[in-house]
Amino acid sequence: MAVTETQASMFEFSGNNLCLDFINTVHDRADKPRDLLNTYSDLVLWSQEAHILTENEVQYLKEKAVQHQAEAVAILKQAIDLREAMFRLFDAMANGSPVQEADLTVLNTRLSQSMAQACIIQTEDGFVWDWAHKDQALDRMLWSLARSAADLLISEQHHNVRECASDDCEWLFLDTSKNHSRRWCDMKSCGNRAKVRKHYLQKKHPA
Ligand SMILES: [Zn+2]
Repeated sequence: MAVTETQASMFEFSGNNLCLDFINTVHDRADKPRDLLNTYSDLVLWSQEAHILTENEVQYLKEKAVQHQAEAVAILKQAIDLREAMFRLFDAMANGSPVQEADLTVLNTRLSQSMAQACIIQTEDGFVWDWAHKDQALDRMLWSLARSAADLLISEQHHNVRECASDDCEWLFLDTSKNHSRRWCDMKSCGNRAKVRKHYLQKKHPA
């Protein structure tokens, strides 16, 4: 189903990076976590909004998932496991904590499955990365996500992964601001909430 202007999306893409946006599919992770990916269809819809699936590919995967329901359920679980491992990896980096070997293993396992499908195709403008056998695979969005996480981990940009300054949010983002001063996943939600709280505390306890 295409997202029309009248139909508000439940997903936000404020992470400046594909794998960080995927990690941010849980609200209020630190307090009362609310998962936005509860069905395989949610995963497909998110992937479409993240532009790693086209509308035709979405239709095909949804039909295929109806025919292979147990597999679709298993892939959702694998997606969540991958997402949580990636969260712990990048959260540790954002906080300067050591990365756990077990989390890197989860990512590497998925990465080697993905890279076995990696190929180069020719386009009008030259050559681009693509995936072989992608039409058959219900888990194909995980290939792009594992690749995105690997690319970020080995790039210089990994120094700019930040955690939202809100206490309960824990969303991650790539700080691409000029002086690396971005503090909030989204100024309109978390940034604003913090401003309101500060204002309230100042009124309650004037300096
Ligand atoms: Zn936030």
